[in-house]
Amino acid sequence: MSRAAALMRLQTIDSQIDAHRNRLAEIDRALGQDVDVSAARSALAEVQAALAEGSKTARSFEAEVQSVVAKGKEVETTLYGGKVTHPKELRDLQNDLASLQRRRAALEDKLLEAMVDVESGETAEKAALARLAEAETALQKSHGTLTAERAKIESTLARLAIEREAAEAPIPVTDRELYGTLRQRKRGLAVARLEDGACAACGVAPSSSRAQAVRQENAIIFCGNCERILYAE
Ligand SMILES: [Zn+2]
Repeated sequence: MSRAAALMRLQTIDSQIDAHRNRLAEIDRALGQDVDVSAARSALAEVQAALAEGSKTARSFEAEVQSVVAKGKEVETTLYGGKVTHPKELRDLQNDLASLQRRRAALEDKLLEAMVDVESGETAEKAALARLAEAETALQKSHGTLTAERAKIESTLARLAIEREAAEAPIPVTDRELYGTLRQRKRGLAVARLEDGACAACGVAPSSSRAQAVRQENAIIFCGNCERILYAE
């Protein structure tokens, strides 16, 4: 096997390892995120806060209605109790009673509105709870799929590590170092195929003498443009 062929073999394995590692990082990010569940949780919290506020309002109107009813009864007792006989006082009491009844009617309207709000708040809460449950189920399902994929990738990576060792063993140290440096400088791709007379990495065609050297010589020949090691089958 030529020097370039040995490096190409190593490059192919390393590119696979890179792709699998990138996917692993992606999976780990996805496993750490639960965007939909978080959104559903905060939506539920919002709905519940509004519902609590609405219930509080309804209770306070209820208490006010009760207090107005109690006051009305007191006025009625005084009015019809027979102790008050003075016409002006009786008229005042009747006015008080009428005013309390108007107040009661107004409060009952507000109480009714508040109760309608509470009811729609409860409906919204149920819907928000259902959405949260749905998001949690979806998350568990996707976690299950991702965890399975993760395990598969881990075992593939273990196999590739063994293959890499075998591929690297026959390569001279200087070539390994050259390859490692180029991998770092060239975003992971140190060796490029010569395809249809052009470098597959950058697309530029080397001179015909250089292309011929790539095909025939057991030497490291670089692409004149992107400086990667060229390899031809
Ligand atoms: Zn190139």
